[in-house]
Formats: sequence, C-alpha cells, structure tokens
Amino acid sequence: MAFERLTGALNEALKKLTKTDKINEGHLESLLREVKLALLEADVHTDAVDTFLAGIRSRALGEKVFGSIKPSEALMKIVYDRLVDLLGSTQQAFDYAPGQFTVIMLVGLQGTGKTTSVAKLAHLLKSKGRKPYLVAADLQRPAAIDQLEILGTQIQVPVYTDRTTKQALSVVKSGLSAAKNASCDTVIIDTAGRLAIDEALMNELAEIQRAVHPQEILLTVDALAGQDALTVSAGFANVLKLSGIIVSKFDGESKGGAVLSAKTVTQVPIKLVGTGEKVTDYDLFYADRMANRLIGMGDLMSLVETAQAKLDQAALERSAQRMLDGQFTLDDLLHQFEQMAKMGSMKAMLGMLPGMSQLASQVNDAQANEAMKKNKAIILSMTAEEREDASLLRASRKARIAKGSGTDVSDVNRLISQYEKAKDQVRMMARLAKRK
Ligand code: GDP
Repeated sequence: MAFERLTGALNEALKKLTKTDKINEGHLESLLREVKLALLEADVHTDAVDTFLAGIRSRALGEKVFGSIKPSEALMKIVYDRLVDLLGSTQQAFDYAPGQFTVIMLVGLQGTGKTTSVAKLAHLLKSKGRKPYLVAADLQRPAAIDQLEILGTQIQVPVYTDRTTKQALSVVKSGLSAAKNASCDTVIIDTAGRLAIDEALMNELAEIQRAVHPQEILLTVDALAGQDALTVSAGFANVLKLSGIIVSKFDGESKGGAVLSAKTVTQVPIKLVGTGEKVTDYDLFYADRMANRLIGMGDLMSLVETAQAKLDQAALERSAQRMLDGQFTLDDLLHQFEQMAKMGSMKAMLGMLPGMSQLASQVNDAQANEAMKKNKAIILSMTAEEREDASLLRASRKARIAKGSGTDVSDVNRLISQYEKAKDQVRMMARLAKRK
C-alpha cells in the first residue's frame, strides 16, 4: 500500500500526544518537528510542508488547544483539517451540464500516464451518461496515437486521428468538428508530452488553450514523482489555466510526496487518481478520505463503499451507527471480520479498518486470511459476556479461550490489544465526528 511510511510516521507522532494528559507548546513544537521530518522524507515539496505546519501552529495557538479537555484530540482534529486543506477541498468532479458540449484537455510530462488517463476519464464520463470523443493530439510520440486507438476500442469510444500532420492545433480543430458530427458531447484531448518542459511544447499547448478554451485542463502527475518532477509540473500551471490534477500510479509504492504537494504547487485540486494500468483502474479523489487514511484512522468511507455492493446494507448501517456512537465490542469486531471475509482481499480490507493499518502493512494476503481465521476462532471461543466486556478477560479465562480456539495465550493477548486499539480509534472518531 502506498504511503505506508508517511502514515506510520504521522501515526507515531500523534500517538505520543494521545498518551499525554496536558499538552504544552513544547509538545506542539516537537510534534511539528516530527511531522516535518516525515513529510520531507516522503518527498513533499518544501512549500507545501511550510504551509501545512504554519497552518497547524496558528490554529493550535489560536484555538487554545492547550486548555481544552482533550488537547490531543483537538490537535489531531487540527492536523486532520489542515491535511484536508493541503490535499484540496472535496468537490463534485466532472459533473457537467447535461447536453453542454464540453472540451477537456490533458497535459503532462511523458510517461506520467496521460494517454492512459484520457481513456480512464472517458470511461468514467461514459458511465455518467456522457458521450465522449477522444482526440489524439500527441503527435510527438508516434505510438501515442496507436495507444489511444487501442484504448478507445477497449472502452468503445471513438478516437479522432490524423497521421498526416504535425500541427496539433489543426488536429484538435478537426477533432472537435468530427465530435459534433458524431453527436458526441465531451471531447477529451490527448496532448504531447516531453521528458522536460520546453518552449515549443508550451507554445503548442497554449495555442490550443487560446483557440478552443477547454472547460477543463487537467495535469497528470505521477504519484511516484519526486520534488524535481513536481517543480516541472508547476511550469504547466504557469502557462495553462489548469482546473485539476490526475495523479497516476497511485497503486505503486509511492512515498506520498507528489499527492501532498500537488495542490500547493499548482493551486488546483486533485480530481482523479489512477490505481492501475487498466482503463477501469481509477477513483475519484476525496481529500477528507485521504487525510483519514494518512493519519491512520482507517478509510471507513471507502470501506463502506466497497462493501455496499456485496453486503447486507441494513447490517452495515447498524454497525456504522454503533461505531459513530463510539460503541465497539468484540462482537462488533467479529462481525467486521465476517463481513470482510465476504469482500475479497483481506489485506486491502485490513488496511481500511481503524487501528489495523500497521498490521496490514506487515502481512501478505494469505497471512492476513490466516490471522483473520485465528482471530475469529478466538472470539468465537469467548462467552457472550466476555465479548461484551473485554475487561473480564483475565489470565484463567484467556487460557480457556486459547485452548478452546486451538491458539496460544499470546495470540489471545495480541487480539485483545488490537481490539483495544481499534476501540480507542472508534471512540476518537466518534468524538471527532460529533465536533464537525
Ligand atoms: P503518457 O506518456 O503520459 O501518455 O503515459 P502513458 O499513458 O503511456 O503511461 C505510461 C505508463 O504508465 C504505461 O505503461 C501505463 O500503463 C502506466 N500507467 C499509467 N497510469 C497508471 C496507473 O495508474 N497505475 C499503474 N500501475 N500504471 C499506470
């Protein structure tokens, strides 16, 4: 999973605070120092790091966090809110007025996944009832035209090509007419990328912008990009009126820098993320969910969405409501394990649960399945009373449960400690949710 190290570091820094009853400015400064190190190590752009830390400091001082009843939670909420800001506001992306002819242009350095993203966006818009039409205006890389044609066939969306000219603007203009003739309402233009920004490229893109005034100009950024590549991306923002960012390769082992820096560097929000090579591998981007995941509270919303298709909706809502009320017994945990078993990759699911992200990073899918089976057996060996109130679980009871479930007392202890952590996080989330 991407961002493991950053999430781990943020988590550690925040965990120290939750152990402290009274927080002073010294604690705040040491938190900021640790967060700064974690962000820089994750290749977050220095401008973004500075803005983020300054935001936390001024809020923490301004809101009198130090006098509040639960200063660590107040501070955590501030870190969370600033993270959401850093990542961009949540917004309804790609909702265009019905019937309105819409032009979208994708720009970005070569290899950042631009052509692939054109097809992903077309797939998304088609699923929303639009009629997309692709225009192959990347005339620098001959294979790009073929690639777009292949992708277009896969998603059954027409592609305009003209291999006889090197004039991108003329291809775009003819492409727009062809789209109208074909009664399509959404044109997505694939433009030329280079290895670095050069004047000829920028002029070509600026010329298209001037001539056709696209409603959207989206910049593709590779999630694996370091600071240098990001600075280059900012060059696009200087010349073009960008409206959003597509982060590709979100599925890789990204340190997180590009995702956290993109908005500060370009001043526009991330709208879509690519999560694999296939045309269907993408997700809309939600800053709040990402912030949740980064500070290790688990991406509950995503979990709920993934689950919706496969699970009993009423049961899910009941358990979500219990969690929002801060209630979380071993029976709730058992219920979650059972639901997760229906959903596929245990490792991926584990990472989304509160308190479980670190465990998820340490295991593969088979190990996660094995661990989950063991955990289920342990809870099933408990009495209803014990499941309701874990504080009853003293040594003799643990020994009985270990025997009954064919595990060791150390396994029982591990499960209980994971459960306690998850319960703490559920309670914390419930309190944060109430503050909103
Ligand atoms: P372009 O040069 O910017 O048009 O980039 P391409 O669309 O050709 O993509 C470059 C490479 O990245 C190709 O091998 C794509 O399959 C791959 N790619 C694009 N998006 C993603 C993604 O979200 N995840 C992964 N794993 N690979 C991607």
